[in-house]
Amino acid sequence: MSMPSKWEIAQFWEQGRNRDEFAPHLSLVEPCCFACGWFSECWEEKTPRARWRRARLERAHIVPRSLGGPDTADNLLLLCRPCHEDSPDWADPRQMARWIATRAERPSKEVETSRHGLPLPVRHQSSGMPLPLSPRSRTRKSE
Ligand SMILES: [Zn+2]
Repeated sequence: MSMPSKWEIAQFWEQGRNRDEFAPHLSLVEPCCFACGWFSECWEEKTPRARWRRARLERAHIVPRSLGGPDTADNLLLLCRPCHEDSPDWADPRQMARWIATRAERPSKEVETSRHGLPLPVRHQSSGMPLPLSPRSRTRKSE
């Protein structure tokens, strides 16, 4: 069986009832690390699927293969490299949820360069809406 794509994993957790425990930062429109909320790029891709495919995130098992964890979306999270490297191997998924709850948020890069070398607008991570570049910017606290 092949591993689900990053987009399939993101969609699974978006709808999942354990979303708040395992993917508190998840927003389908803006790919980010499930554990720390970091995202590195605002790719100029047309679809969320394409953005997730391109995101520098890794598929991480909640329960590792070595402990019998399957390659299914409910056992896979999308993590940045530091989170993936730091996350211990758990036999019990609830321990992963607790680890995520204590994981500090990592600041995201604010501006990435588009294909054409122009800076892209900073996007609000929760809403996915581009922030206005003018001073009349709204500030929304993340929930
Ligand atoms: Zn992370």
